[in-house]
Amino acid sequence: MTDAPPPPPSPLRLRFDADALRTNWRALDALSGQAKAGAAVKADAYGIGAVRAVRTLADAGCRTFFVAHWGEVADLLPLVQPEQIAVLHGPMNDADVAFAKASGVRPVINTLSQARRWREAGGAACHLMVDTGINRLGLGIAELGDPVLGDLDIDICMSHLASADEDVAQNDVQRARFQSVREQVGARRYSLANSAGIALGAAYHADLTRPGLALYGGIARPELAGCIAQVAFPEVALIQVRDLREGDLIGYNATFTAQQAMRVGVLAIGYADGYLRCWSGKGRFDWRGHEVPVVGRVSMDLTIVDLSNVPECREGDWLTARYNLPQAARESGLSQYELLTLMGRRFSRFHTI
Ligand SMILES: *Cc1c(COP(=O)(O)O)cnc(C)c1O
Repeated sequence: MTDAPPPPPSPLRLRFDADALRTNWRALDALSGQAKAGAAVKADAYGIGAVRAVRTLADAGCRTFFVAHWGEVADLLPLVQPEQIAVLHGPMNDADVAFAKASGVRPVINTLSQARRWREAGGAACHLMVDTGINRLGLGIAELGDPVLGDLDIDICMSHLASADEDVAQNDVQRARFQSVREQVGARRYSLANSAGIALGAAYHADLTRPGLALYGGIARPELAGCIAQVAFPEVALIQVRDLREGDLIGYNATFTAQQAMRVGVLAIGYADGYLRCWSGKGRFDWRGHEVPVVGRVSMDLTIVDLSNVPECREGDWLTARYNLPQAARESGLSQYELLTLMGRRFSRFHTI
């Protein structure tokens, strides 16, 4: 058996602007006022690449990192202190507890049974999630008097806002409930706000904020528009260029017909990469500052673009998707969160920071 040679570079890459991430975190930390900003780096840092994101964020001054799954921890352990990593899903079984103990990573306790499991294993510092109205993860307020919580060593007591990106009464209801949680639960730090919650103002900041989306260029509320920069730039190689005649049909189900002779290009990106079919006939790429529109249907691995504006564009050139998140969300009907986390496994995320 011979070893496979290293794979050649991918025709898809997610260019990452480390300075933009650093600047976004610093802006959110400043907007958090008295509170310190942490960072949600779950789901591979929203698709950006958790390793490079955490390295950059740690360099910017971030000291608290949130992942969802225990499986997301291993890549981060060489980068930051284990106690700086919080696992939101909490210890669901003995294997999770054993891993937390061995690694020193802090679990977020979400239920009484998780609290019991953690205590039976000897306890140690942990975090606590309390539900104040999203009805997702977290202990109910009525459960807070349970003796099993009595001697937990709680670092961060947190709750999560359901609708911070909207101006609705629910925000104030959750804020007030969190205030009562603070009166009932002893903890070293309290935390309520996600990206949008930071823009709701000081009453939501507590001691630690937990931005995710806005770190990676998402605009969670209009107040954040001026200080958040795009971080991720999907880039794709042009595999083939072809000349069409008037009347030629493009792509699956021939949804586009050339109205005149035209030059088109075939890009190595498709819905399997997270560039979904909603971009059919609608998406836009960029080549040296010129707009290059998608024509016809996006297919699994390929997307066809109109090269009429860019006669100099050649096979092997790289094009950048127009992926400004608020605008791309409006155009595609996808959320900014989906746009980021969709970017698939075929993107190379290698980067030297
Ligand atoms: C994902 C998540 C965040 C970050 O939310 P954004 O809206 O992306 O800023 C914060 N807290 C918890 C508990 C989360 O699950």
